[in-house]
Amino acid sequence: MTAAEEKIAPPRKRLFISLMGLTCLILVGLIFLIWWVPNRGLANIHPNLPHIVGIAVAVLSGVAILGTGLLVLTTALGKDIFFTRFMRLVVIKFLLPVIEFVGRMLGIDKDGIRQSFIAMNNSLVISQRQKISPDRILVLLPHCIQLFDCEIKVTGDINKCVLCGRCDIKGLVEISRKYHIDISVATGGTLARKVIVEKRPKLVLAVACERDLTSGIKDCYPLPVIGILNDRPFGPCFNTTVDVGKIDDALSQILLIDDPATADS
Ligand code: SF4
Repeated sequence: MTAAEEKIAPPRKRLFISLMGLTCLILVGLIFLIWWVPNRGLANIHPNLPHIVGIAVAVLSGVAILGTGLLVLTTALGKDIFFTRFMRLVVIKFLLPVIEFVGRMLGIDKDGIRQSFIAMNNSLVISQRQKISPDRILVLLPHCIQLFDCEIKVTGDINKCVLCGRCDIKGLVEISRKYHIDISVATGGTLARKVIVEKRPKLVLAVACERDLTSGIKDCYPLPVIGILNDRPFGPCFNTTVDVGKIDDALSQILLIDDPATADS
């Protein structure tokens, strides 16, 4: 994994990987029990039945272990080895709820698991190494990134910002102009979905809190979403901030531009 990739998908994903390994072990244990318990009686039906069921159980366990190993390898190497798109489906639709349940049983903080899931999702999206033209990328921001008492409302058009620098909108406008990409400010999940339907991007780069990013990634599937967490120095939904450098790093990896420095020319 490159230093830039590490910045966007930091080692937080280790928690998700550990929980995934644990979930895999629990699943394999359950699969074994499902075979072992009735196995005592299977031979009474047919003498070969225990062997046939045993092979099926071994194959299922192998798929679970191989799948987990492949997922760990893909995110560790940052490369699309096999079936990355399918693995994203498995992680988002099936593994996340199970891992959230296992994490809850172990008393692990919900937001910690979500941060880890977002980092894992980012790794999988970036490992596909797609190159997308600027007009097919949408950056979605929450409205709380804008300074609460700024008199200009940038919800409809971020370019209305006069770049006073009192909030991170200034840096984000500069990024939008540098890469010629669309940046929208959404006042909630419903508006965010409307913007996505209207603009039909090939990739969304979203800034939000753990909860909104996790639900956004789930709702948008199969559309790839890179999630960047905001910082909340004054509590949730009020004068939040974001590391603009992380957005720049993510865009420079997925944009169809050889040299980002030439993007202005
Ligand atoms: S940078 Fe200044 S003008 Fe722009 S949105 Fe923030 S406070 Fe308003």
